[in-house]
Amino acid sequence: MKKKWLIGNWKMHGNLAANKALIASIRAELPELDEGAEMVVCPAFPYLYQLAELTRGTGIGVGVQNVSDHLQGAYTGETSPLMVKELGGSFAIIGHSERRQYQGENDGLMGRKALAAIDAGLIPVICVGETAEERDTGRTHDVLARQLDAAFGYIRTAHDKIVLAYEPRWAIGTGIAATPEIIQAEHEFLRHRVAIRDKDFAARLPIIYGGSVKSANAVSIFSMPDVDGGLIGSAALNATEFVSIYREL
Ligand code: PGA
Repeated sequence: MKKKWLIGNWKMHGNLAANKALIASIRAELPELDEGAEMVVCPAFPYLYQLAELTRGTGIGVGVQNVSDHLQGAYTGETSPLMVKELGGSFAIIGHSERRQYQGENDGLMGRKALAAIDAGLIPVICVGETAEERDTGRTHDVLARQLDAAFGYIRTAHDKIVLAYEPRWAIGTGIAATPEIIQAEHEFLRHRVAIRDKDFAARLPIIYGGSVKSANAVSIFSMPDVDGGLIGSAALNATEFVSIYREL
């Protein structure tokens, strides 16, 4: 059985007390993780070490929401993936649409960040997704292909340690998830696109969906054959919701 994934993107939320309470509630509701299903939480940078400590020995993985595309050097304000690794992080979300939208990140930078994350021993969670306008004008597949090729162009060898996330921008934070049919169609498209480079890798690659996933729609989304889990934003801040979604994997 292929492993399933649930990754919580906490965005710029949380504080020391709230983070501690959230992990305690998740642990109370779910004392043991399932063998075939990973759970990962991605706090804001300052809380990485706190979360590494809070989750030690629980099986819950920890990641960050961004990393530098360099491992070291004169890059003021940046965080090296090596530092993330040293502080107990194992994952890095790369190319999230909010970074594309507000920080001007582009496809090339996403590719370099994914490569730096891999070089540091992190698992990149590479995000791709179209805007509403791109979908409405029939450009979804062009956009997904471009974003995917940019990221994979930098990752020359097929790595087992990559997670791909399909996150249509119009579904993020809107409360309106893409339909299971759209999600399946785009995941299938992405998997085929990866298969052009490497068939085995494509079959093994976890492709997860993100954008307004909640416990109420998780079953129908996760039942799609090419969906290997979810990247969860707002619902990841509520222990009951997050654990309920995990149980639907
Ligand atoms: P959302 O966010 O679940 O709040 O829509 C998803 C994401 O940004 O990864």
